[in-house]
Amino acid sequence: MALMKCKECGKEISDNTPSCPNCGYVYKKNNNLKWVVIILSSLIVLLLLILSLVLIKEKFDDDMYEDRSDIYIDDDFNNNGDNGSNNSSSNNYISRSDVLDIVLKDLNINRSDIYDVSVELENKFGKTVYDIDFNYNRFEYEYYVDATSGEIIKSFREWD
Ligand SMILES: [Zn+2]
Repeated sequence: MALMKCKECGKEISDNTPSCPNCGYVYKKNNNLKWVVIILSSLIVLLLLILSLVLIKEKFDDDMYEDRSDIYIDDDFNNNGDNGSNNSSSNNYISRSDVLDIVLKDLNINRSDIYDVSVELENKFGKTVYDIDFNYNRFEYEYYVDATSGEIIKSFREWD
């Protein structure tokens, strides 16, 4: 049993006394404080754990896509149309909105049903494909559609 100075009156008192015998200052709160510290540090540990799990998942996702040789085409791509684009090869591909329609038709849903949509042109499976990512109904979808024929090559669905 150690001694400590009372916070209130400064007299030496036992450090496990519930209250100061001299001035009556209540030390029981220290016990509560100890619990607060324990709970807070548990929460921090839990938070760090969740954070590392999220980071691991992101790393895993990155690894999944590592093999891609992406050709990133910006949003102007859609507007190329007939107005003499300097990227003549992309004029052979179906438009982003058309490719999205193909995917929506495949799922029998509307454009307003999906969110976080991304449509990118890529070289994969030995051809030029659209990689379409979006969320629908709490699932994450990924579609690969042939950019020339509009044929659905592959589709994935995973719980978001
Ligand atoms: Zn005291």
